[in-house]
Amino acid sequence: MKNSVLGKVKIIGVFLMTFFLLFLCFSSYPISAKVPTIVINPGHLVGRDSGAVNNNNNIQEATLNAELASKVAEKLKDIGYDVFLTHPVTGCSIPALLTTQQVIDGYNSNSSLKTIGDAINSKNPDLAISIHHNSGGNASGYEFYWSSYRAGIDNTDIYKVYGLWGNGDFSWRDKSPCNAALKSKDFAELLKANFSGIGIPFRNIIERDDYIPAHTKCPSVLIEAGFVSNDNESRKLADNTYQNDEANRIVKSIKQLFGEVAVKASGIVTSESSQVNNNVFSVNAEQLKMEGSNISGVSFEVYKNGKIVWYDGIYKSADKFTANVPTKDFNYETGLYGINAYVKDSLGNHYRLGTTFVTVANTKITGKVERLESETTG
Ligand SMILES: [Zn+2]
Repeated sequence: MKNSVLGKVKIIGVFLMTFFLLFLCFSSYPISAKVPTIVINPGHLVGRDSGAVNNNNNIQEATLNAELASKVAEKLKDIGYDVFLTHPVTGCSIPALLTTQQVIDGYNSNSSLKTIGDAINSKNPDLAISIHHNSGGNASGYEFYWSSYRAGIDNTDIYKVYGLWGNGDFSWRDKSPCNAALKSKDFAELLKANFSGIGIPFRNIIERDDYIPAHTKCPSVLIEAGFVSNDNESRKLADNTYQNDEANRIVKSIKQLFGEVAVKASGIVTSESSQVNNNVFSVNAEQLKMEGSNISGVSFEVYKNGKIVWYDGIYKSADKFTANVPTKDFNYETGLYGINAYVKDSLGNHYRLGTTFVTVANTKITGKVERLESETTG
């Protein structure tokens, strides 16, 4: 009896010691950074809810929101972030969490914001950004909203403030904001710093409980990028060059929020005419390099006329992977094919390397097209 108890104590002791040693062992491994996931919500919905409208030049808020949101999303994707729109934007390749119809159904049941907020939370992203434009006569400038209140998530030290919305409406505030709320405020401050000098004035960073910032579990900021109602300003906000400038400043703020991510990948994506054979063409990712992790694979996303087919890269050497694309997968169609290449690190995270296009004519590829991507930050 006594021996048996002693035996059990010994077994538990050995088990605990082993566990402790294993813990020491695993915790001493370097931890690779995960690619942050960002969700962008283009406010309102083109064709259903225009938001603010300028009656002099017919510039509509929903259009500006969609244009800026898609630019930010594409730029984030290009540098390796995991990025989603809340709903599809025409002409933008970034995947959406909801279909347009699901957002319309949300409008029809008077719960469009809840539909969007729930979709964002189900993705569990690292940051959510809502993009809007303002209305108010000839007022001018941009502002950033964050919420200290997190409905159903952090209900400690909550109190009401009247008058923030006018007409006796009220906003909830939180004396001890959760980390997601505090990081939202940090992000608003980064946006303020990076938007400085853009050509229209800074107005405010405002603590207010707009639905999305107040109901997302992650850090979340609503950007009011400028005034649609101001004739001059609205023309500027609709300008492609100005939108790219805005998008670059938002992307810079996101990179600063998350710091430098450890994994960097680079390489060249090519397709060569000599590789056409039996209606098959080859695509290559070569001169591959990855800092901070090992390359465990390459995937090629080939697209034509709205059809997308994925191919796993075949290992050629430590810095080269190849895939064979049978044109029968695309009904033997000729013309331009687009190819995105992604490298996979040892943790299974994907980093976009770049895009190349090939022209397939009579099952022969003409020319050699390649594009060197700048270094990709994961
Ligand atoms: Zn709006």
